[in-house]
This record gives sequence, C-alpha cells and structure tokens, in this order.
Amino acid sequence: MDRTFRIKVRMRRFRRRHPKIAFAIRSFMIFSATFGGAYGFVTGSRSENSGYDPNAFAIGASFLFALACLGLATLSMRLRFVAKRMRKLAAHNEALIDRNWELKEAEERARSLFESQGDLIVLRDHQGRITFANDAYCALAGQARSALVGTRFDFDVLEQGDSAREASGTRIHDQKISTPLGARWIAWREGLVRHDAGRPAELQSVGRDVTDRTETERALSDARDQADAANRAKSRFLAMASHEIRTPLNGIIGMGGLLLDTTLTPEQTTYARAVKTSGEALMTLIEELLDYSKIEAGKLDLEQRPFALSTLIEEVTELLAPRAQAKKLEIAAYVDERLPLEVTGDAARLRQVLLNLAGNAIKFTSSGGVALIVEPGIWPNEISFLVRDTGIGIAPEAQSRIFREFEQADDRVARTYGGTGLGLAISERIVKRMGGRITLESAPGKGSTFEVAIPLALSQGDAGRTAFPSPDLSGKSILLVADGIEASLIARRLERWGGQTCLVADAAVAEALLPERSWHAVLVDRALGAAVADRVGEAARAHATQRLVLLTPSSRHEKFSADFTGFLVKPLRAASLAARLALTPEVASPDLAPDPAEPAPVRAPAGGLSILVAEDNEINALLMRSLLTKLGHRVVIAVHGEAALESWLAASSAGTPYDLVLMDIQMPQLDGIEATKRIRAHEAATGSQHTPVLALTANTLVEDRYACFEAGMNGFLIKPLDREKLDEALAVLAAARQLAVERQATLP
Ligand code: ADP
Repeated sequence: MDRTFRIKVRMRRFRRRHPKIAFAIRSFMIFSATFGGAYGFVTGSRSENSGYDPNAFAIGASFLFALACLGLATLSMRLRFVAKRMRKLAAHNEALIDRNWELKEAEERARSLFESQGDLIVLRDHQGRITFANDAYCALAGQARSALVGTRFDFDVLEQGDSAREASGTRIHDQKISTPLGARWIAWREGLVRHDAGRPAELQSVGRDVTDRTETERALSDARDQADAANRAKSRFLAMASHEIRTPLNGIIGMGGLLLDTTLTPEQTTYARAVKTSGEALMTLIEELLDYSKIEAGKLDLEQRPFALSTLIEEVTELLAPRAQAKKLEIAAYVDERLPLEVTGDAARLRQVLLNLAGNAIKFTSSGGVALIVEPGIWPNEISFLVRDTGIGIAPEAQSRIFREFEQADDRVARTYGGTGLGLAISERIVKRMGGRITLESAPGKGSTFEVAIPLALSQGDAGRTAFPSPDLSGKSILLVADGIEASLIARRLERWGGQTCLVADAAVAEALLPERSWHAVLVDRALGAAVADRVGEAARAHATQRLVLLTPSSRHEKFSADFTGFLVKPLRAASLAARLALTPEVASPDLAPDPAEPAPVRAPAGGLSILVAEDNEINALLMRSLLTKLGHRVVIAVHGEAALESWLAASSAGTPYDLVLMDIQMPQLDGIEATKRIRAHEAATGSQHTPVLALTANTLVEDRYACFEAGMNGFLIKPLDREKLDEALAVLAAARQLAVERQATLP
C-alpha cells in the first residue's frame, strides 16, 4: 500500500517535472493500444480458420468504431469540464494573487512602522537571543540590525527603578542604561508574545526614552526638598529669632510692670505704660509672625480633644471684656441650648480664631458692642460661631482682600488702628485646616458679622448631658431693665428657659410696668446709671422677690442699693444666671457674696516656696526674683545649668530641698534639658524626693515641649511670663504640697 502510494507520488512528480516526455509516452501508449487492437482484429478475421462472416465483421467494425466515438465524445466532454474548472481556478488564483499582494503590502507597512518607531522594540527568544530589533533600538545600541539579531546583546544597567506587574502579566520598570550616546532613562514594558503552537513564546520589550521627564522630575523633587529644607530653616530661624527677641522683651514688659507697681509721678506712669504697651504690641506681632510661619511650613497640627463649648466662649468673652469695657463697649455671648455640651476638636486653635475675630470687632467698634453667638450650622455636626459688631464695617471691594496676608481694608485703617493684617489670614488658614469656612457680611458704617462654620463632632459620652440644670421659668414673668446687645441675648436665654420676659430700656417705663403683675425677678443693668438702677431696685421691692443688679467688673466694688437681692457680673455666664434665678433669696439683704460661678483664688501658703531659678539672662533673673519675692516665695538664682545642678545637689544633701526649679532651656555650659536629666538621674539613683521642674522658655515649638517632657520636666511656662500664670502654677504646686503634708500627718 505504502509502496504503491510512493510509486504514484513519484510518477506524479515525474509528470509535473517532465510534461512533454509524459505526453509523448502517453500518446505512444494510446496509439500502440489502438493500432494493436485494430490490427489484431483485422488480421484475426482474415485468417483461414476465422470463419469470416462479412456481417459479423461489419457489426464488429461498427462496434469498434462506435466504441472509439464514445471514447472521443467522453474525452471531449471531460476536456470541456476541465477547461471550465481551469477558468474558475484561474479566476480564483488571480483573486488570491491580489490578496497575497495586499497582505505583503500590509506586512511591509507594519514592518516599516515597527522599525521606524521612536520607542525601542526588541524581541527575544526563550534563550534571550534577539529575533527582532527596530531602528530605534539599533540606533541606541549603535549597531546594525544584522549584527544584533541572533545575539544576546543588552545594555549595561546603571540604575534600576521600581518594578510593577500589570494584571495582564506585563512588567513595567524604569532603568538607567549606558549607551554610546550617554546614559539614558528608559521606561520598559515587557511581556510574552505567543506564536503558533509548536513555537515557543518570545519576550517583547518596548522601551520609551524618558530621560528628559525623569531628569525634570528629579530636578523638581530636588527643588521641593530644597524648598522644604528652606521652609524648615525659615521656621527654625523664626523660632530662634522670636526666642531671641522674646527674651529681652520679657525683660521690658516685666520690668515695665514692676516699675508701674512703684510710686511714680503721673508723667513717669505714662512713660512706663507706653513702654509696657509697646512691648506687648511687639510681642503680639512676633507671635503672629511665628504662627504664620508655622502654618506656612505645614506645621499646624490640630488636636482632637473634648472640650466644653460654653466654657470656651465664656473664656473668650471674659478675656476680652476688660478691653471692650475700657472702650465703653458691650460684649456678650450666647450659646444655643440645642448644641452639645462637649465637642471634640482643637479648643486652643478655635479660641485663637475667635479671639482674633472678637478682638478685631472691639478694635473697629467705637459705640455699641460685640456679640458672640454660637448656633448649630447648616450641616449635621457643624457649629456656627458668629462674631457680630456695630463697628465701622468693611467696604464690599475690600471684603475678600482682607483675608490675604498683610492686607487691610484701607490705609486709613492702618494709620488709625495699627495692626499687621495677618490675623484674618491666620484665622482663615486654621479654619480651613479644621475643614470649615469663614464668611463675612458687612456694610460700611453698619457693622460686620464674621461667621466661622466648622465641623465639630459630639464628644463621646456627652449625649444627654447638660452644663448646668436650666431653671424652669415657665409661667414666670421677668422684667429686664437694660439696653444693648447683652440685654437682648439675656432676654433670648430667659425665653428659652420658659420665662415671660419683658425687656425695657427706659427706667420710667419699667417703674410703670412693675405694679402690673407679680414678677419672679427683676434684672436691672447699672449701665443705665447708678441712680436710675437704684431707683428701679427700690420700686421693685414690693413687686419682685428677686432683684438683681447687673454690674461690670469695674463697678463691682462700688456700692449699690440694699434693695437688690444680688448682683451678676457682665458678661453674664449662663450658669451664674441660672443659679441666681433658681435661688429663693432672703428679701432684705443685698447679697455681696462672690459670684457662685467664680472660684475663689488659690493662695500660696504663708511661708512661701523655696524656688531655684536657673536663668542666664541677668534682667530676666532680676525680674523672676522680684516677681516671686512679691508673691511671697524664697528665690535662689543660678546663672547656668551647671550652677543650678550644684545648687540643687547642695540643697538636697543639706536636707532642705527646693520645692520647685524654674529652668531656662537655653543656657551656657549646661542647658536646661541636660541639667534636668541629671537631676532626675540623681533622684532615681538616690531614691530622693522628686523636685518639680518647670521649663521656662520662649521657645514655643512642639518639638521643644516634647524635649522638655522627655527630659523629665513637669510643665512649661512660656516667656514673657504672665504673672497670673506663674501665680496659678505656684498655687497648684503649693496646694499639692499642702495635700502631701496633710497625708503624711494622717499616716500611722
Ligand atoms: P489687623 O487687624 O492686624 O489689621 P486682620 O487680618 O485681623 O489684621 O484684619 C485685616 C483687616 O480687616 C483690618 O485691618 C481691617 O481693615 C479689616 N477688619 C477686620 N475685622 C474687622 C471688623 N470687625 N470691622 C471692620 N474691619 C475689620
């Protein structure tokens, strides 16, 4: 079978190769067969014993002829059929030739496109040998394609970037390679390309020259690093400069204060006051600049701690009240009862913003007053702080400008009111950082309202708690004889508590109203005039059990009519008002006991504390000595860390340890941090009593605070020293000492 097939194939191949010989052989065979057949037939019929029969011969001859004719006819038909198929095949062949031509052209185009690509393209077989490389690759390699194909050529890698893999399996990576044209950065995409079954897959690498982009990116990143470093240096420089400026300023302000406490002529008092006020103005400016540079350097870290909203607002109003009252302005606050008692956020930064806005409000107002209103915002968890004033107002064209740094509404403002134009820029940045916004509504001559809206989450565990029990005033009538912003806010609060509030600004009207009904309470503002207030108080005696007079802190010690049952100090605290209204007072005597909401000041113990002050600046040392001695304490000064350590060791070994060390941070020989570390190490080694150490520094950077705490300090006092803060810190310490002594005494 196999053999026959092979013979057939060979014969067919022979026919294809030698068609003429095959035709001659085939013709010869046909001729021989036909001739042999006919000749045999004629010869056979003519032989002796053939029994020739002309009839049969004719039939035979005719049969043969007919057979030949049939053969011819069949052949002719087949020929026609073959000719037809040949025509069809020729047409088909032509179409195939055209198609083949097109494909060749397309392939040529694709190849030239591939080769002339700007990107590098290289294909490698499974052994890493190049099977194809485009023009760009050859040019970069500096070799002809023929020289590259079949080799394992690759560029030297100078630097390898990060590599990543796509879901399709393609690997992406950057490489810095060495080429005859110099070092280039190439971004490669590499993946396997599969061919027909039977041939292994090839690795296709497509690389793009990204040298320019990478260099630009590197240059940008270097520039950014440099800018960051410069910014850090700037902020460090500002901190250093502010420290250097703060230290002498501390001396100027402190000494000014001490000078004012001595007996001076009126002229000297004026000069001393001017020195102190200028020092304080310079200090504010330095603090603003420091704050601004911190925000600029992105160093504004916000705390997330729970704090009481109404306490914060009351603190702000009380802090600014003396400034407002000195200008005969009112300042009042109102915190909506729907707001949570405690929220979570950065209270110190919020206080800074509100102090700036309310401080501006006082500065730019000459009559009327300032109100701080806190309400729920338009979004859930948002709280809106409104600072409203009746001041000079701001022209529409200046309203957006004033939020930019060093911008003021106009030159007149700078001349009349001073200022740097930084406050609002700082406030806006802080509020934005808190995720909130500041908006402004104002018209010249009509006052301004700044609104700070920030998201403040309800502090956990606060739900349902209230700051103080609000009095139930439902069905009770309260007469409020007062005028101005605070009066309307008090009326609003009383109404919230259910009271029927009647607010009148005219004493005569109030006197006429008094007999109309029985009043639960009558509140009279002494700002209407001392005599007027006393007259209303007297008239109210027969009609109201509670008669309260509203005083400013400055008029607190002035005498007022005994017809009043108590007093309240403006700006009013909601808790104090609630406490007063809930009381059933003795009708006759005026209540001059301290305000229930105001805690009694803590005093230092009679003997005072023994304090070691480590301070290298002579003036500051003198200031500290004077301040502390005035407060009744005993002071020892050490001029550097080494001296402080020695003094501390001497006192400890003599059995009279210091109660407190106030440690300056930057000192020659041994700085405050190191000195404290050594004190702590000595205490730990000897098991001796722990001496409280408070840092005394003008550095306000967070890192510095951490350093202090890490060294084992107990707290931080910022220079210039606030007399009250110092007093407070010492009082806390004295109280703790007292407690410790009492505990010791009760021990068996
Ligand atoms: P400074 O008060 O130090 O000038 P601010 O940034 O706090 O800087 O304020 C910028 C300017 O905005 C002020 O100079 C003033 O012109 C205007 N401004 C701010 N608050 C008020 C206000 N309550 N009433 C009128 N003008 C104001």
